[in-house]
Amino acid sequence: MTSFHPPQRTLMGPGPSDVHPRVLEALSRPTVGHLDPAFQALMAEVKELLRATFLTKNALTFPTSAPGSAGMEACFVNLLEPGDTAIVCRNGVFGGRMLEIVERCGARAVVVDDAWGDPVDPQKLSDALAAHPAAKVVAFVHAETSTGAQSDAAVLCGLARERGCLSIVDTVTSLGGTPVEVDAWGADAVYSGSQKCLSCVPGIAPVTFSPRAVAAVEGRRTKVQSWFLDLSLVMAYWGEGSRSYHHTAPVNAIYALHESLLLLQEEGLEAAWARHARNHRALAAGLEAMGLSFAVAPAHRLPQLNAVTVPAGVEEAAVRARLLHDFGIELGAGLGAMAGKIWRIGLMGHSSRRRNVLLCLAALEVVLRDMGVDIHGGQGLAAAEAFYAGGGQSF
Ligand SMILES: *Cc1c(COP(=O)(O)O)cnc(C)c1O
Repeated sequence: MTSFHPPQRTLMGPGPSDVHPRVLEALSRPTVGHLDPAFQALMAEVKELLRATFLTKNALTFPTSAPGSAGMEACFVNLLEPGDTAIVCRNGVFGGRMLEIVERCGARAVVVDDAWGDPVDPQKLSDALAAHPAAKVVAFVHAETSTGAQSDAAVLCGLARERGCLSIVDTVTSLGGTPVEVDAWGADAVYSGSQKCLSCVPGIAPVTFSPRAVAAVEGRRTKVQSWFLDLSLVMAYWGEGSRSYHHTAPVNAIYALHESLLLLQEEGLEAAWARHARNHRALAAGLEAMGLSFAVAPAHRLPQLNAVTVPAGVEEAAVRARLLHDFGIELGAGLGAMAGKIWRIGLMGHSSRRRNVLLCLAALEVVLRDMGVDIHGGQGLAAAEAFYAGGGQSF
């Protein structure tokens, strides 16, 4: 065996996204002890940067030392006790995963189903809340990465709050890409991931808990069944004041997270959202000019995750394999009900660039044309360039 040298890729799938060179450089700085005063000062800055990113004043805001799925689990295991009722909105893979966790908490799940590719229907949630007045938690995915659809988080959190329920919101794919406004939404437990629109290395899950959520955790009758994710224990480590050992934080990954959050603040949240919107519109103009179509209605499309319908007769996996082999471009496959039917083209964080939009359109045209698909040669790139030239500023 020899040292591992990964191939150069352009990551345009559902995450991880391309990591900015400044973030990779931060990762390689010397490791210090996790209780070193210098690292503790960094931890304080990371919490401050996360509050600025989630747009919240929540004191309990920190990065969980584990991937986005652990952020999801942390929210559920701390807020739910055996016998509690949780309303879970499911319009894709990740809502289904929430349901799995609710059941493993010994809680009762009420499922509000919407079609894959549609947003969560507020009327259905409203009806479920009326039918289950004892429900404690409402959970939904803001940006469903499996389908490319975004739900209205402000409305859904508002409905939960009106009925005295706590909301759990998955912002793994939205944070940094589309507006996530935790305090304005009145959301209670919100988690994200490092490797999507934050463009950091995978393996960290930022979380934030409202004072109401903290009160609910403090009022528990039973112990949180997960020792590692028990907030009352983690806070002795990530909280204010003197720190005691809980686990060893992934020190270098926290350097990387700090750098990626700093990059986002330097750009400005609103500028980053506008960049994601612009590059999405350029890609959409190109794909539609080629004769391809989206699986999600325009009003609910995620700019950072484009679900594109695979043309009839085309073997979707073969296209992705060619893109990876010939161009080093990674696209995502469809999951679950959408397997084989869509490609998922990610324009997340540092991957959301004009260069990637044009590269992807050109490569897709070459590959599809080779396979004998009629895709209006040359029109995709021209449409995207016309969009950028018409005021869609480039990056
Ligand atoms: C990626 C993703 C997750 C899981 O994150 P991991 O880091 O892969 O564990 C959860 N929810 C959504 C919406 C995601 O896109």
